[in-house]
Amino acid sequence: MWRVCVFAALLPLALAQDPKKDPNQIGARNVSKGVNWYSIQKEMALGRQLAQEVEKTHTVVTDKGVTEYVNRIGQNLALHSDAKIPVTIKVIEGDEPNAITLPGGYIYIQTGLIRTADTEAQLAAALAHEIAHVAARHGTRQATHSQVGQIATIPLIFLPLGGLCGIGANHVLLPAGLLAEQRAYEREADMLGLQYLYKTGYDPLGMVEIFERIFSLDDRKHGKASHVFSTHPDGDERLILVQKNIESQLAEQPQYVVTTSDFNKMEVRLSALAWEKKPEPVGPRPPTLHKSGEEAAATKKFVPQSAARASQIKEAYNIR
Ligand SMILES: [Zn+2]
Repeated sequence: MWRVCVFAALLPLALAQDPKKDPNQIGARNVSKGVNWYSIQKEMALGRQLAQEVEKTHTVVTDKGVTEYVNRIGQNLALHSDAKIPVTIKVIEGDEPNAITLPGGYIYIQTGLIRTADTEAQLAAALAHEIAHVAARHGTRQATHSQVGQIATIPLIFLPLGGLCGIGANHVLLPAGLLAEQRAYEREADMLGLQYLYKTGYDPLGMVEIFERIFSLDDRKHGKASHVFSTHPDGDERLILVQKNIESQLAEQPQYVVTTSDFNKMEVRLSALAWEKKPEPVGPRPPTLHKSGEEAAATKKFVPQSAARASQIKEAYNIR
């Protein structure tokens, strides 16, 4: 399980013990260690084959204003990641806040996930999480384990952010051992993705914020209480771990990118697409930790420091 290093004094020791916890070692460490029967070539061939299946059953968005923007954000994150293979990012239609990551670096972001984000840092956080699955080769490692356990009937594991990743109600049924492994991979993708987000220059709190929005949407859809995570311990646990990882692994920077005018332009393009969004579930909107009416600056919007907002989050979620 995770050792969370709360006290700054322990930080150098923790980083020395585990390169995965040190963002300064991104690119120079191996984050995909573990039993894996798939060579890189075999993984990429499998990914190509599965990508064809995904594209047969989903509508791929072709609007350049949307796809080029999402690709630019994703490829920039990939440059600051541990991924050893090229990452292919496509946008697919769907109103769930989901993404599908296949072996071989194929990432499909649903329009519902893009719409759930209201800053570039939040969208980048979701992409960074998926890129972490690619870097750590979670898909083929889990496929290997399911074969070791002779559970050959289980379909190859897809890793959507708000589905299997969200540990929510829309789960594929997995045996207990694989489910535990799945959850461990999600926590690892949260941790590595957070580091990629940070190294690319984004506000790391974007990850806390996008999780808040995804999990609270999930709660509202399932008619749960509006109090954000009172009935959602798994989501709560993930969010708290992200906040603790921010404190224990990321040296605070003087400023971070929160959003850009390009994000706003992309949102306009996206809303113009002929995709009928289902009505939002009825219920009170969850609290958000930033001002919704804020307008993005002409180019990039920065926050000076995250300390004040971090303490706001810690208070909201009773993090000690
Ligand atoms: Zn995931």
